Amino acid sequence: MTLPDPMNLRNRIDSIKKSLSVPEFFRYANHHLKRAGKEFVVLCPFHMEKTPSCFLYEDHFHCYGCGAHGDVIDAHIKIKGSDFRTALEELGRLAGIHQYPKPQYSGGSLGKTENRRTKEKTT
Ligand SMILES: [Zn+2]
Repeated sequence: MTLPDPMNLRNRIDSIKKSLSVPEFFRYANHHLKRAGKEFVVLCPFHMEKTPSCFLYEDHFHCYGCGAHGDVIDAHIKIKGSDFRTALEELGRLAGIHQYPKPQYSGGSLGKTENRRTKEKTT
């Protein structure tokens, strides 16, 4: 029996954060980014506002209007309404990390039965 390895999860989270910055995620989520000095600001997705007050830093966001705060994973969960697992999967894809490759099915056996069926029909 193997339990999920917490070190593995931690590594996964770290590599997502390293390869996908918070501004990159907000851009992906169709937010209009404005330059504010070295940082970016967006209209806060968590409260109504006319002037952007949600600051995007490399590794976290912080809204000076409503106090929303978090890293790129929190941003995904809050904006997309996803759970932690879904957030990790989608962010992993965005960040180009493929930790769980899908098995490739050839579909060969299915083809064979189809062939046999058509043969039985024609004879
Ligand atoms: Zn806000």
